[in-house]
Amino acid sequence: MNGRPLHAAALKFFWGPMDCGKSTMALQMNYNHARQGRRGLVTTRIDRSLGPQVTTRIGLAHSAVEVTDELDLRDLVRDAWAEGVRVDYLICDEASFYDLAHIEQMADLVDNFDVDVYAFGLATDFRSCLFPAAQRLFELADEVARIQVEVLCWCGREGRLNARVVEGRVVREGEQVVIGDTVDTADVRYQVLCRRHYRSGDLGPRA
Ligand SMILES: [Zn+2]
Repeated sequence: MNGRPLHAAALKFFWGPMDCGKSTMALQMNYNHARQGRRGLVTTRIDRSLGPQVTTRIGLAHSAVEVTDELDLRDLVRDAWAEGVRVDYLICDEASFYDLAHIEQMADLVDNFDVDVYAFGLATDFRSCLFPAAQRLFELADEVARIQVEVLCWCGREGRLNARVVEGRVVREGEQVVIGDTVDTADVRYQVLCRRHYRSGDLGPRA
């Protein structure tokens, strides 16, 4: 033995643009682990549904713990343990919207509680700048993986960046988090574009 524990917990960050299937992958991962007899908790923040559950665009849903400013993820696990509920892992959806303190708590859960943490989220905001929580995840995670489900720009190139669209135009200033939807009728909506069309602000012939 080299002093390493048999099971080394890990902090993993899975990232991709909107609509790439992150939440679907989060729930699939939860399902896969549960089938192996492991038990975990699912957390989320500012989900589209505005309720404490993870929903996906293909219709899956799972109850989830809402991550508030006050919530300490370590307490969440400790409290579950105190009630006799096993927690082997956390699945943290929409992790880019968490506070920096939550990311530190994730690292602590891995290092000091031997709990796996799988975080899912956007890397960049509508200005194409990293969300602070995503940046911290890139800095701290044991493993970072780009989700490979392909989202295409209207031109057919790979969708890379999340554009915020207000009244039909790409905007580049404003609050970092504004809830919209990706359907065309919302006042504020988001559209995934390739880098070229993100930078030029071209929403395509349909817009
Ligand atoms: Zn394009």
